Amino acid sequence: MGITRIASAQYCQYDANNREGMMTVRIANVESEFAAKVLAQKLTEAGLAIQTDEAVPQRIRVEWAGESTQLLVDVLEAFVFTDWQYEFIDKKIGALHPYLNSDEQEYVALLTFHALKNEEDLIAGSTVQDWHTKIRLAFEGIFEEREQDRVFLDGVVRFRAREYLAAVESTIHDMVDQFLTDREYEEFVSMLRFMLDAQPATSQVLNVYCSDELVWICDENGELVRDSEVSNAATQVSEGEEVNAEDLAMSILITRSPCKIVIHDSMTDPPWPSFAETVERVFLDRATRCKGCAACKTFENEEQRLPRGRKRAHVHHTPGE
Ligand SMILES: [Zn+2]
Repeated sequence: MGITRIASAQYCQYDANNREGMMTVRIANVESEFAAKVLAQKLTEAGLAIQTDEAVPQRIRVEWAGESTQLLVDVLEAFVFTDWQYEFIDKKIGALHPYLNSDEQEYVALLTFHALKNEEDLIAGSTVQDWHTKIRLAFEGIFEEREQDRVFLDGVVRFRAREYLAAVESTIHDMVDQFLTDREYEEFVSMLRFMLDAQPATSQVLNVYCSDELVWICDENGELVRDSEVSNAATQVSEGEEVNAEDLAMSILITRSPCKIVIHDSMTDPPWPSFAETVERVFLDRATRCKGCAACKTFENEEQRLPRGRKRAHVHHTPGE
């Protein structure tokens, strides 16, 4: 970028309100550990006079007329919550999660950055707007002191918004967790699909029922698929081991390799990923969602949860309902 200098029009202007007379010009060296080049560009775009030195790239000398202080504060405030914050996130991810490749790091950084932009969310107990105000007031306070000629932007943010930055780190942690979970799920689905590919499709049509407490499978005639695994699955569900029940149900589906699966999903608040979604992901166009049958309607109308177990499957599959 080299030396950039834009003469300030107010440089020699007489200011009657200024006790010092002729000079209303202010000068400060603003230092930013992150994205200093972008900051220099933004200050220039805002019409502020700057000088940069390639030997000290993090430092920007800013000259401005006293009455432009608010403009300078505007630029710094916006910069902190955009480019500075993005680079802070990016560097943190690189340091904390070096096992992610650069594309993955960038993806998680973007997820984190966008997660923090939600106006309604509280970040460390304050709204995004509150944090903006806090940083803004900090800069205003600094520039009110006429003698302040060095401003360490990183120090200001790290001190005034330390709880915010701690929340940023915690968001990074959540996003990395989510990313790894997603990736693991993708691998899980690929593995299941691979297993399914090894099974020739049969002419069977199976119905998969997913309720909040239970997963079970019926054949085309409404008969419960009585593989011993199903009853084991049901037992385990009743003990709260839902994951195992779903895994078993999935292995039955893959083993039987039906040409068509109808999913009757009556889960009210399914965890992600729901069993129904996984069945769709694995069986692709062989899986369809029930558009409303007697059994599904019964679930919809049901207020009281019935006792769990295989019996329940029959209750809900009484023909002629
Ligand atoms: Zn149905």
